[in-house]
Amino acid sequence: MNQTSISTDPSCMDDFDPNSLAVDTAMARILSALQPVTESEVVPIRAALGRVLANDVHSDINVPGGTNSAMDGYAVSGSDLPASGIRELVVTGTAWAGRPFDGAVAPGQAVRIMTGGILPPGSDTIVIQERVERLGDRIRIGADTRPGENVRRAGEDIAAGTRVLQAGTRLTPADIGLLASLGIGTIDIKRRIRVAFFSTGDELRSVGESLRPGDVYDSNRYTLHGMLTRLGAEFMDLGVVRDDRSALEAAFVHAAAGADVVITSGGVSVGEADFVKEILLKTGQVEFWKVAMKPGRPLAFGRIQNAWFFGLPGNPVSVMVTFYEFVQPALRRLMGESQHTALRLKVPCISRLKKRPGRVEFQRGILERDADGQMVVRKTGAQGSGILSSMAQANCFIILPMESTGVEPGADVEVEPFFGLV
Ligand code: AMP
Ligand code: MG
Repeated sequence: MNQTSISTDPSCMDDFDPNSLAVDTAMARILSALQPVTESEVVPIRAALGRVLANDVHSDINVPGGTNSAMDGYAVSGSDLPASGIRELVVTGTAWAGRPFDGAVAPGQAVRIMTGGILPPGSDTIVIQERVERLGDRIRIGADTRPGENVRRAGEDIAAGTRVLQAGTRLTPADIGLLASLGIGTIDIKRRIRVAFFSTGDELRSVGESLRPGDVYDSNRYTLHGMLTRLGAEFMDLGVVRDDRSALEAAFVHAAAGADVVITSGGVSVGEADFVKEILLKTGQVEFWKVAMKPGRPLAFGRIQNAWFFGLPGNPVSVMVTFYEFVQPALRRLMGESQHTALRLKVPCISRLKKRPGRVEFQRGILERDADGQMVVRKTGAQGSGILSSMAQANCFIILPMESTGVEPGADVEVEPFFGLV
């Protein structure tokens, strides 16, 4: 190699940086460093929606509590069902949902029963009313019902003692309903985690201020706020911090004092890295600085005092991608959620995608059905890491592996749907 000249020609390996960590390695390092919070709190079940369950939940009761009718009809004994022909039974009363029949079904008898009504002793089968001919206090039934039909058995949904929810579950509306169905009114959930964040940059203005030439509005604090809110984290918005050593140092120390996690955006790319790096080396530890991904190569992970630190890039799309791929799983782990694996699908891509080898790329895509009802994905137009509108249009990432050199229309690609976080 000629050591006296510096090549400035772009090459196909430009995107490869030997100092960058592979995406999977970076994720594994983050997850192995973090431990879930141990503190929990007891709240009414409605307040537990979206929170993480601290302990397993077992049922104290059978659901349904008693064997009951799945249909409107007549409760009979299976031994009274005719093998062929017709049989006549005497109707001795009625069982309603919530108002059981006060008696038993003797041979030759039947009890009128409504859906949800408890089966009277002596009965084990419901003959649905559509298959019954009623004649005064008698019914005539045929050979079209089998013993045990149209019955919901006690405990068939949940048997007493069964584990119904596992510690580490993020509670959904179905889970809350399930808890209510077991008569459970309060529940032990992991405490919320606290996240402090701020933006860095002399060019940043806040909404409401006017822009001078070269200024931009700070959008990262808004996307971060939204994503943290959806994840159920408590947050502390520390505003914009100027590119100034002592202001940054003070902000880091203040942020770390009150939070489990500190997230910053900007100031970690080449040329600007020094302040943040210097401060981190002084006040904390750095695990890594660069990940082989696009957008988002400058991504710092480390610790400041007792807080974890994520230094996200400044570009608005990079912030969202690195949050989605790294900060989100990290926060979920801290919150005590059991391992979360994002759903990825293989679908045909109808756009041509440009890419250079050397980094994993997260392009912004729209997953939709084509005219034939086939799932396909297309890109959202320009893919620059500052083009936040592309992120707003997207509903998924198109993930192109490190070695990919682009995609021709019609080829399969891997996509990761957003599922409501962004
Ligand atoms: P940096 O990583 O600080 O070099 O920033 C990279 C690019 O992202 C620059 O064009 C910044 O102006 C832009 N940027 C940084 N922070 C923000 C922010 N909070 N909101 C919008 N754009 C930002
Ligand atoms: Mg900056």
